[in-house]
Amino acid sequence: MKSYHNLARHEGNRQLFEVVEMGVISSLWEAPLHIHAEGLRGTGKTTVMRAVKDLLLPMERIKGCLYNCHPHHPHCPHHRNLNREEVEAVGTEVIPRPFLEISHTAKTGTVAGSIDLARITDTTRSEAALLPGIIPQAHRGIIFIDEINRLADTAPEITDILLDVMGTKPGRIQIEETGLPVVEIPVQVSVWAASNPDEEPGPLQEIRRQLSDRFDLVIDMGRSKDPDAIAQILIQSETARKNPYLKPVKTEPAEKRYSQEMEDIAHRYRNLEMPDFLRNYIARTYVKYDLESLRAIEAVQHGALLSCALRRGEKVLISDILKIIPLALQHRTDRATLAKIMAGSDNSFSYKEEKGNGSDSNNNRPTTGILSSQEDTETLSAEAPAKAMADKSLFAPLKQLLGSRPKPANADEITTSPPGQARRITEVDGDNLLKTETQLRS
Ligand SMILES: [Zn+2]
Repeated sequence: MKSYHNLARHEGNRQLFEVVEMGVISSLWEAPLHIHAEGLRGTGKTTVMRAVKDLLLPMERIKGCLYNCHPHHPHCPHHRNLNREEVEAVGTEVIPRPFLEISHTAKTGTVAGSIDLARITDTTRSEAALLPGIIPQAHRGIIFIDEINRLADTAPEITDILLDVMGTKPGRIQIEETGLPVVEIPVQVSVWAASNPDEEPGPLQEIRRQLSDRFDLVIDMGRSKDPDAIAQILIQSETARKNPYLKPVKTEPAEKRYSQEMEDIAHRYRNLEMPDFLRNYIARTYVKYDLESLRAIEAVQHGALLSCALRRGEKVLISDILKIIPLALQHRTDRATLAKIMAGSDNSFSYKEEKGNGSDSNNNRPTTGILSSQEDTETLSAEAPAKAMADKSLFAPLKQLLGSRPKPANADEITTSPPGQARRITEVDGDNLLKTETQLRS
């Protein structure tokens, strides 16, 4: 498998790199971020997503717990009633953060859980017990599903499980096995998926709209048009052919450095807050454009916080929100509405800072995400939201009206009350204060 830092980056996949890095930070915040990369075959979406596995930092769990119980918040049937001392008596261990895959041919038992045959056939102490499936075992980590559109088409029962798991944060999963009581447990996993909407059975949005809506962010993958980036991909394929048994990742210092940076970012920006005026803007967008899904605006808010953290910004900017809006809304609303929202945001805010941002698909910056240059992040964090407000193009017509107009000749003669002292309307000399436009122009 190719290591993350060696993957070729180009304008077609730049956004995916950024979003998966947001996903890594989000999992360190123990907050799921569901990501869906859509694109033609050969755009490298699965390669990028799978390579992230090696950026994930280890985590601590209660010793031997297949449900990955957090030592401070145990949730599984075996540990949820234990107090701190009892957990200490069991002990804890550090394991790699889970990155597990569900194939489109998976069965319900494998995904949710099944009866533990090893324990039932144990001749010394036979007992009926549940063996958690892939999803409960991925608690606090990531589940990856390639060809999610095919899964949704051929496995409605697994789709239903995913709807529950992704329906709330944390989600929930039911494990049912004949002869055993049904177990329902909370599960905190990020679901990452990839699909090619141009291949059978078509776009996920058309196959199972509900499941499509569960994804916080959808990334449209493009092909690279940069010959240098394509040449880099060819070099990597050659290297892989010559060294088929090479296991580069894990030991690569570059991967370790990225992991460390991710952890630093996640720790430092954990308490970032959405400024009120930006939260209100998101809320107004929801109402004004009659958006169907509250999940959409929750995704905008969470994504914008992650975008801010990734660029090491101290304050969330409108550019963070504008970067996330298309990713959070393209699968939840029609293109015309999305275009109106983006055009409307242009009138509400000046997003000058956006133009210097690495996310702009038209610029040719070679790096993105965690690899963004310091220069990028400094330019961005220096821009305060107040500035975005001050530069509002909303005020432009007003400025034009008030700022550029020559002062009326008799302006000094207009008398006003000292501040704090109002005059009755009957005391106001209307002829002096009120002028028609013709009088002002003359
Ligand atoms: Zn447990």
